Amino acid sequence: MNNQLVIRSGRRARPGRLLILLPHCLQVDTCGLRITSDIHNCRGCGRCPIAGLVEIGERHGVSLSVATGGTIARRTIVEKRPDLIVAVACERDLASGIQDAYPLPVYGILNQRPEGPCRNTLVDLAEVERAVEFLLASGSAGRDRAVAGAG
Ligand code: SF4
Repeated sequence: MNNQLVIRSGRRARPGRLLILLPHCLQVDTCGLRITSDIHNCRGCGRCPIAGLVEIGERHGVSLSVATGGTIARRTIVEKRPDLIVAVACERDLASGIQDAYPLPVYGILNQRPEGPCRNTLVDLAEVERAVEFLLASGSAGRDRAVAGAG
């Protein structure tokens, strides 16, 4: 429902004004690299989704931030002042994050939790990339697919 509203609002962003906001639990817990201060500290080994997410960010020129909780997420939004956000999180955090960010549009993508909540979570990288392509001002490649998959 929220994603349909974002799509139908017609809001789009330039790459520099689109933020991908990620939960820390996407980083595999055996990786000791500090990606919360800078996601580019990831060495791209591919053991968790962070490597692929960094690649998506670089491909489209959009920034990514990893938040360890709602307070950090809110601070990141204030600091970066994006026009649009693609947020990955669980249902609960997405719901509260969308409310906190209002009136800023947030396109939400649910993470997958094969080991339970808050630990070694996963995300569909293709879904993230489709959302980014759709929400970029110049991007139309993923538009139909994103519309078809939203909901
Ligand atoms: S992909 Fe990046 S964050 Fe994930 S385990 Fe490898 S180096 Fe660490």
